[in-house]
Amino acid sequence: MHTRRTTATPAALAARTVSKPCTRYEHDGTPCGRLTDRRDQWCGTCAGFHRAQRPKPKAAAPRGGQSVVDAPEPLPLEADDAHDPHLNVTRHAIDQYRQRHGGDAQAAETEIRSLLENLITTGDHRHLTRGSWRAWRLQADEGFTLVLSADASFVIGYSTAHRERTYAQVKAAVPSRSRTREKAWVLQLQDDLPIRFPKLVLLRFARDVLGIKFTRSTGERVVAEIFARSQQVLPDPPPSNAGRRRVTDQDGLRWHFHYEPGSHPTVSHLLWEHGRGPEAAKAQAEKK
Ligand SMILES: [Zn+2]
Repeated sequence: MHTRRTTATPAALAARTVSKPCTRYEHDGTPCGRLTDRRDQWCGTCAGFHRAQRPKPKAAAPRGGQSVVDAPEPLPLEADDAHDPHLNVTRHAIDQYRQRHGGDAQAAETEIRSLLENLITTGDHRHLTRGSWRAWRLQADEGFTLVLSADASFVIGYSTAHRERTYAQVKAAVPSRSRTREKAWVLQLQDDLPIRFPKLVLLRFARDVLGIKFTRSTGERVVAEIFARSQQVLPDPPPSNAGRRRVTDQDGLRWHFHYEPGSHPTVSHLLWEHGRGPEAAKAQAEKK
């Protein structure tokens, strides 16, 4: 960072003064098309998804060798440096970004730089050591991480705890598409609770545990009962409030908790252990 620029390049200025159609999508997959002069080509009004559809979940990649994280230490960059052409964003980081959020390479780089700008001023900065390899790790409480080279001249990695929303979307409080598919009345039933239950989980709990149907008239009771029961098995949240936890209760019911920073935990699945639950009991009874 020997020749830091403090004024925007002509190209950056042009990008900010010429209005172009917003390239993003609404929750339901409708293209936006509002005019915007923002650098990231998001109008900021629509939901801002890069893809029309939510991608299918991928199996988690195996984790690499354990890295050692040192004590916090401020990265030697200023917020302006995030947009400095002497700071590079590697193809690898751009690919990681696009795999998660979609969009083209240019949009990915712009958004990574904008995230970096925010992380330089508000993020947690640490040295990372893995054998002889050194790097910087910058992390946002909202669940976004950038890895920079040891000399802080390259952004070499990107990761997030969110399945598809970008940092800008999370900051703008765009809800995740997993939750917005739910019917309004199902969401209203749990508005005051610190945990979320998707409709499929409520249906199963009502049928298998309470022996009733989950409907508008039984909804309140089902939600009260499942909430009480979930509190008995509630695990400690994972580090950074991101990831999954699985707990089996005394009746052999497996609770899958899903955590995402900035959101309430969700019970994503309810499953019976092998040989437990009403189906197994029925099969057992038929054998006799
Ligand atoms: Zn838009």
